[in-house]
Amino acid sequence: MKKLQETIHKYMKARNWDDLPPADIAKSVSIEAAELLEHFQWQNWSKEDIKKNKEKYEEIKAEIGDIVIYCAEMANILSFDLEIAANNKLKKAAKKYPAHLFKNNKDPHGTGVYEKIKKEYRKNKFKS
Ligand SMILES: [Mg+2]
Repeated sequence: MKKLQETIHKYMKARNWDDLPPADIAKSVSIEAAELLEHFQWQNWSKEDIKKNKEKYEEIKAEIGDIVIYCAEMANILSFDLEIAANNKLKKAAKKYPAHLFKNNKDPHGTGVYEKIKKEYRKNKFKS
């Protein structure tokens, strides 16, 4: 991931785009995420549907690429390693959502358990 951050930094620097305000990058991440979501606005594509539709597959890949680029640029501007940030977040999520509560859960994707944990977390977070 560090190599990708460096490649993106070079790309941005070559265009004098390497000093964008963090708010502009955050907005761009959200705009690109909306572009990804637009593909699903009136369609509930399954993964099989997407893989069968070459054009759709490429468009979705491109939007994911846009999102990753802006996330990496945010990491560059704020001087942190995106891979380390993602790994730290995964470790936190693993503690918050223990695998044993979700694995082989009859509830699709463990939605009920997820909602319960999330509700409890928010209740404790805003308690003071
Ligand atoms: Mg895009």
